[in-house]
Amino acid sequence: MVMKQIQAPRGTKDIIKENQRHLKYIISNVSDLAEKFTFSKIDTPVFEFSEIYTKGIGTNTDIIDKELFAVSRQNGSFEKEEGKSSFCLRPEGTAGVVRAYIENGMQSWTQPVKLWYEGPMFRYDKPQKGRFREFRQAGFEIIGDSSEAIDALTILVAWEIFNKLDLKNEIVIEVNSVGCQSCRVKIKKILGQYFNQNKFKLCQDCNNRIKNNPLRVLDCKNTDCRAIIQKAPQILDLLDNECKKHFQGVLEYLDEMEIPYDINPYLVRGLDYYTKTTFEILLKGDDKRQNSLGGGGRYDNLIELFGGQKTPAVGFALGLDRIIELLQERKIKIPEAETPNTALIQVGEKARKKSLAILKNLIENDVSCIIAPGKDSLKSQIRLADRAKAMFALIVGQKEALDNTIIIKNLDDGSQETVMGSRLVEVIKKKLS
Ligand code: AMP
Repeated sequence: MVMKQIQAPRGTKDIIKENQRHLKYIISNVSDLAEKFTFSKIDTPVFEFSEIYTKGIGTNTDIIDKELFAVSRQNGSFEKEEGKSSFCLRPEGTAGVVRAYIENGMQSWTQPVKLWYEGPMFRYDKPQKGRFREFRQAGFEIIGDSSEAIDALTILVAWEIFNKLDLKNEIVIEVNSVGCQSCRVKIKKILGQYFNQNKFKLCQDCNNRIKNNPLRVLDCKNTDCRAIIQKAPQILDLLDNECKKHFQGVLEYLDEMEIPYDINPYLVRGLDYYTKTTFEILLKGDDKRQNSLGGGGRYDNLIELFGGQKTPAVGFALGLDRIIELLQERKIKIPEAETPNTALIQVGEKARKKSLAILKNLIENDVSCIIAPGKDSLKSQIRLADRAKAMFALIVGQKEALDNTIIIKNLDDGSQETVMGSRLVEVIKKKLS
């Protein structure tokens, strides 16, 4: 039976060719910077107990209420197997990192612990430009330090990534503070009162949000709601002195480093765990805030909420798929894909028999080589070498196979020489250097 369903699920995509090249480029730059800033890499599972997300990110958020992908087995569920709660695909990276921090006893490591990650995240979002159901993020977390300098350091890392990718002039960093838990009570009360007074002008979703978490209303994209939001009391005015001082301190560090930012007093992010500093990286001119490139903030209560000791933390995540699109739209030059050093061309049965042994020798000596051992025609093999932009063709015909020799042809200037097979690696390495 022929398979009917051969397309990838909606909101997912294969990353090939140019996109793969751009993804690799971004990750290698992020990884280089992570090393320079002395972050260690962490890989956490792609699926975890759902509880870490429902508890950490918070219900009444789109990510939890509408977008989680549950994980089950073909015949039954994990619950029976594990005797525990359900699993889901990770919608973001922070909760998994926090779980790993506690589980691996990182509290006893030198603090703060600086970690970074990259990989796929899953949200049942409505697919559209820049919005997928499987997308890739790179994220950074600094756990175990509450000072303003650490918030500013986190923003510096994000800034340097865009700087390195030649995108720093394309972005705006918006910053705000959502205060600590005690400020939050006051903020929710005052915003709740304001939105209640205007509830007839707000959408149904916002009316539900007023009851559950009025801060969420600030996130609404609906035009009528935005008009009301723009006149809402500003969170920054509602902060206590300690949170105000912290935020001021972060801004002073940013000023000192000359990192440009905009204060957005209505910035809250889609996750409930943030405290104090929040920030978002937007594309300049993206007034509708459709395609933010990244965001993050402080989450001083999450580790305790997960059962660890009270530990302050701050982090951010970048959306790599959107950064790939941006690099391509802005035609930012990235290094060309590496071309093979050599192309091995064999003609005749005897030569073909030798071809894989020659390839083995080249690879073991770090010389890259493209080969088409299934092709007989000289013409099609030369075409392949040309297309791959190989530097040298290594030609083995009937005669060379008998003599144990190989013709090395420079594909740039056409010059060629014949060498003994035993000297191939030595000669080719010299030519390549
Ligand atoms: P968040 O984890 O919601 O703070 O998102 C961090 C970044 O991930 C966003 O700024 C986006 O760049 C990216 N992102 C979030 N959701 C999606 C999605 N559905 N598709 C593509 N990128 C996304």
